[in-house]
Amino acid sequence: MMVPYYEYALDMILDLESQHADNLRGEQHEIVETAAEMLYGMIHARFILTTRGLACMLEKYKEVHFGRCPRVLCGGQQCLPIGQSDVPHTATVKLYCPKCQDIYYPRSRNQGSVDGAYFGTTFPHLFLMTYPSLRVSPNPEVFVPKVFGFKLHHSVLKPPGEEASKGGDAKTGDGKEIVAAKPAT
Ligand SMILES: [Zn+2]
Repeated sequence: MMVPYYEYALDMILDLESQHADNLRGEQHEIVETAAEMLYGMIHARFILTTRGLACMLEKYKEVHFGRCPRVLCGGQQCLPIGQSDVPHTATVKLYCPKCQDIYYPRSRNQGSVDGAYFGTTFPHLFLMTYPSLRVSPNPEVFVPKVFGFKLHHSVLKPPGEEASKGGDAKTGDGKEIVAAKPAT
């Protein structure tokens, strides 16, 4: 990944007086600022994979800094940040739930605008490999859709055109009647 004006951007991050900074025009200064942000983000992505970085993230995780899984059956499981790509400007940061092992949009607006590459695709998995005690078993419960208290035949909520694909028998195992919206043939 090329960072434009790398030297200037690095000086900006390190808060050093750049020898040539005075030569920069206004628009160049803006480019350097954007580059500095990207460089900082890429350094961050690398840092959180180091032993010290993982330890820093552990502290934040314990404080539920990254939010909780919005899925009801995950029971407020703490989430970890994840990128869908390691290439900047591809996608914003998402939340990874260790329980349902799915990803979600963060609820906080500030988090929602952060580049996902500043966390990367590896972080939550390496984090859980590093701290085995934080691994959680998935909740075996699944949400069951019901109408007037009755479970539905699996074909009922399929999009039009797909509902007649496979008949299948309508047994749920708990002896309840099943509402089937299919006309009798
Ligand atoms: Zn979850």
